[in-house]
Amino acid sequence: MEPTIFDKNMMWQDHLPTGWSGLYQQFIERLTAIDPTLRVTGAKRKFGELCIRFDRYNREADALARVAEQSSRTLCQMCSAPGELRADMNSVYATLCDLHAGATRPSDRPAIYSIIVHPSDD
Ligand SMILES: [Zn+2]
Repeated sequence: MEPTIFDKNMMWQDHLPTGWSGLYQQFIERLTAIDPTLRVTGAKRKFGELCIRFDRYNREADALARVAEQSSRTLCQMCSAPGELRADMNSVYATLCDLHAGATRPSDRPAIYSIIVHPSDD
């Protein structure tokens, strides 16, 4: 059976840290409720937070993605526990709980909003 758009959107979960799997799945379920034909063209960790892209602009989906991205700043990317954006010695950013913080320090970097909408190919 051909994978559905939902299935394909869910595949981006593999590109994300395990701590954000639940967040991403919830996002895709809500996205599907808004518009089941919207395709995720990218979901990744960027500067320590979730970054999601779509194949076209949809105001509701865009707002939903921003909420998910904001949530990712408070969820440990390793274990989903409450966490915060942190940076290591090399200014590599990650959202981590106290348990996984290791040698990182809290980052006061403001949120990045990096939704980039690609025009549809068809
Ligand atoms: Zn953790």
